[in-house]
Amino acid sequence: MIKTKSLKCLTGFLLVVFLSHALSAKITAIKAGKLVDPEKGITQVNQIILVEGKKIKAIGGDLEIPGGATVIDLSDSTILPGLFDCHVHLFICLLAKDWVRSIDEKYRFQLWRYGNDFLNYTLNNTTTYRALQGVKNGREMLEAGFTTVRDAGGVGNYADTDLRRAIENGLVPGPTIINSGRIISPIGGQFTWGLHAERPGQGEPEYFYADTKDEIKKAVRENILYGAKVLKIIADDQPYIYSAEDIKFIKDEAARAGLKVAAHSETEEGAYNCAKAGIASIEHGFKMSDQTLKLAEKNNVYLVGTDFTGEYLKEGYGFSDEMVQYWVDLIIDRIKRAYKIGVPMAYGSDIVLEIPGKTWGEMSKSTMDSYVRAGLPAEYILKMMTVNAARLLGVENERGFLKEGMAADIIATPENPLEKIQTLKKVKFVMKEGIVYVNQN
Ligand SMILES: [Zn+2]
Repeated sequence: MIKTKSLKCLTGFLLVVFLSHALSAKITAIKAGKLVDPEKGITQVNQIILVEGKKIKAIGGDLEIPGGATVIDLSDSTILPGLFDCHVHLFICLLAKDWVRSIDEKYRFQLWRYGNDFLNYTLNNTTTYRALQGVKNGREMLEAGFTTVRDAGGVGNYADTDLRRAIENGLVPGPTIINSGRIISPIGGQFTWGLHAERPGQGEPEYFYADTKDEIKKAVRENILYGAKVLKIIADDQPYIYSAEDIKFIKDEAARAGLKVAAHSETEEGAYNCAKAGIASIEHGFKMSDQTLKLAEKNNVYLVGTDFTGEYLKEGYGFSDEMVQYWVDLIIDRIKRAYKIGVPMAYGSDIVLEIPGKTWGEMSKSTMDSYVRAGLPAEYILKMMTVNAARLLGVENERGFLKEGMAADIIATPENPLEKIQTLKKVKFVMKEGIVYVNQN
């Protein structure tokens, strides 16, 4: 008898807890003056978004705001999904202009990109310090409106996995991170200076050297085991490069565990191998021919162009005017050709430098200017930063769209980015998974 009574009491208690929880379930109502749908390129006016917990509960023009809901009035703003940056390096931070000196602009890109300063950075900073650097950079990205980023490696001994977990567990604010772990590469990684036979391990753990199929399989599996959510490879930074067959092998091994592959590629040959293997994305691809762009389009390989502006190359990397001109011409021409051919493109900034007075988010957004300069429509640039990126990252059923059931990753701008894309540089409200991080209203 006593036992039954206790059970009844417990049931009653649980019912009360459940009901009180249901009654107090926190709803936030956002009044959206304008609501942009980047997928369709349309704007609706006077919409209401109801957010419950981490997700969008309902969205529409004639919704009733439940009593007790927290109301956020953004009726003078434009609301859109949180932005994506598909190529960040949260765990690298080099001082601008420290590492570029007179280099013939005809040389390949990596000669200045991964010189002694990057090697020094990896040798002088522990994984712990780099994780803390990542906390700062991640917060700055989030505050600028980037609610999702794909980290493209350069993480010491898996600083990226720990930051991703810390953000997921609510320890620190930051964007949703799709992290790549250690970059898989033919021996040497991207270090073209500073490595020699007496210090064979100096490029590790930054890079996971994998040349044979067995080594590749091990590298893929170890990355997955230690928390990578995407794999990053170096297709072509040394005189020896991964073949299309090697890349296809990596892709298949990753796919068995549900992961996609992104490849750093700077040469035409390397990009062709990536396009042929049909991986998820080619990063940079500055020298892709029309033929390779067409193959990428055919195989649904995204281009994450990381298309630096001249200003960034000059201010950040200290390029001479002549070098700036060479690279800007190359980059703008490649953007135009890629857009015309119809390669799916997603936004990625590849910021690795500290420029005093600028946040990580501000530097990331400078890349937008290259697409404006190349004449891409605002609608397409916005797609690159939202829906295209969500599809590339494989999260299109969770985020990147403002729809019922999707993550409440919501930002607001003063003007409509479909009419004025530069307004994305003035994000005034940021919500990620239902939590407000910025509200300058
Ligand atoms: Zn990069």
